[in-house]
Amino acid sequence: MSEQERELGVVRIWQEDAVHLGVVWTDGKQSSFDTRLLRQLCPCAVCEADRQAGRFVVGDDVVPLRVQSVGNYAMKIVFSDGHDTGIFEYAWLHERG
Ligand SMILES: [Zn+2]
Repeated sequence: MSEQERELGVVRIWQEDAVHLGVVWTDGKQSSFDTRLLRQLCPCAVCEADRQAGRFVVGDDVVPLRVQSVGNYAMKIVFSDGHDTGIFEYAWLHERG
């Protein structure tokens, strides 16, 4: 992990609309994330196991209910389908935003 990635943080995060999250990063970059896509890409062990078993299904109507910071390196998104174990690392998000 580079020096820059270690220091990467969130200055501001807000909900742009029902499904989009806006993020301003400490390096000045601004990102917009479709949380339905993040739900699809959820890196947690449960989703990973479901994907491998071919039974990973996410509804189209899933919206984010809450966003919590995890340590100083990631955020957790609580989704309306009850899923709350997805930890999205800042470096991973920053790369995709
Ligand atoms: Zn998951």
